[in-house]
Amino acid sequence: MGCLAIVAALGWAVSRPDPELRTADASRVPSRLASDFDFYPESGTPMPEMMVLAPTDSLAETSVAAPVAASDPAPIDADQVQPPSVETSVRLKNGDTIARVLGRLGVVAKEAAEAVAALAKHVRMERLPIGQTITVKIRPADDEEDVPVLLALSIRPEPRRKFMLERDEDGDYAVEVETFEVESKFQRAAGEVDGSVIASAEAAGVPHAPLAEMLRAFSWDVNFQHDIKPGDRFDVLIERGWTSDGLPVDAGRVLWAELTTGGGAENYSIYRFKPRNGEEFFYNGKGESVVKALLRTPLNMSRISSRFGLRHHPVLGFTRLHAGVDFAAPPGTPILAAGAGSVVEAGPNGGYGRWVKIRHDGGLSTGYAHMSRIAAGVHRRVHVRQGQVIGFVGSTGLSTGPHLHFELHRNGRPVDPLSVARTSLRARLGGQDLVRFTSRVSEIDRARESAGPIERPHVEDD
Ligand SMILES: [Zn+2]
Repeated sequence: MGCLAIVAALGWAVSRPDPELRTADASRVPSRLASDFDFYPESGTPMPEMMVLAPTDSLAETSVAAPVAASDPAPIDADQVQPPSVETSVRLKNGDTIARVLGRLGVVAKEAAEAVAALAKHVRMERLPIGQTITVKIRPADDEEDVPVLLALSIRPEPRRKFMLERDEDGDYAVEVETFEVESKFQRAAGEVDGSVIASAEAAGVPHAPLAEMLRAFSWDVNFQHDIKPGDRFDVLIERGWTSDGLPVDAGRVLWAELTTGGGAENYSIYRFKPRNGEEFFYNGKGESVVKALLRTPLNMSRISSRFGLRHHPVLGFTRLHAGVDFAAPPGTPILAAGAGSVVEAGPNGGYGRWVKIRHDGGLSTGYAHMSRIAAGVHRRVHVRQGQVIGFVGSTGLSTGPHLHFELHRNGRPVDPLSVARTSLRARLGGQDLVRFTSRVSEIDRARESAGPIERPHVEDD
């Protein structure tokens, strides 16, 4: 049985909150009973907890004396004391429907069904998001036989549109729609990195989606754990749509961002751009993609234990070219494909042990030796994505301990993976794309100068 139904049955004389309601709320906001179920009298003064549901005689008199809202269609009968109408905001929880909420408020099923039918002509009732707040205006029952009457209900399933249901004098329900203007705004946040980039940007109000975009865009150049030093700064320009009354209509997107690393030693600046035949992503000021053809290291957690070049081989016992880089890592550490490409070798390969070789664009290929295991599905002629797990660190073949021996070949010859210039592994805009990019950079630079601070939504965006 719904809590309000209980209250109604007791003739509004209940001053203690319904235990069911208290339990339900305590799990969410222990300090405030009324958080999901706030009742307000017509005057708009918030009342503590459920007290307003139990008007004392004096409160009832006050309410009668107060002017009745224009939306209240009930005629005022001089002989009869008019019960106050109460407005309440209800947050939809998992499994809630409008009919169920109205039932909890004591509205009889037939009336609730009529209200829902009227709303359903405008709102997709099955798509109401959890956490959506609806406002309901009810005329409470004025004696024990009477039942509460739904006077009005408003719902805003999306920021742009609000639907208002109202009961007319005949008891029929009609729905009005209010549409809000939407404006796209440029907003900027900057600050010193205090601890982590994520925490500092969040503290500056950068919403989650643009923050994630920014981190991903910098991830080919910056190791967020090791490269950030005291005094480093971030600066970001986002574009986001807002309604005229201050609700965000989208998650926002990054147009430009800048990050310093090493205590200001390095400075990375990125612009959002979509080449004609490519995906929209980020480019530095020279028009080079932030995406590198190859990852800097094919392991997330590792240290370099042996570099490219001539060395005395610990197992073979003579000096020869070490044709790759060794990364020491615990056995079983996932090995990532340094770049997208197709697998050309996968299996045992003499002293290299379990070995995978991938061919990439631009005459490049990479090789991964001494694996304990090759990942399932990694065979010859299979295409792999950049960062895909292709195997696991081991010590198979001629090896003194668990490590990854990593090779980079350019046109069939081994080259030092660590000395290959960063920019040579990046796609670079050219031709018409570069012309368009240059003018886009000027536009974004101008927008940055005129941008306001990042706004916080009136309602928390979860
Ligand atoms: Zn090696």
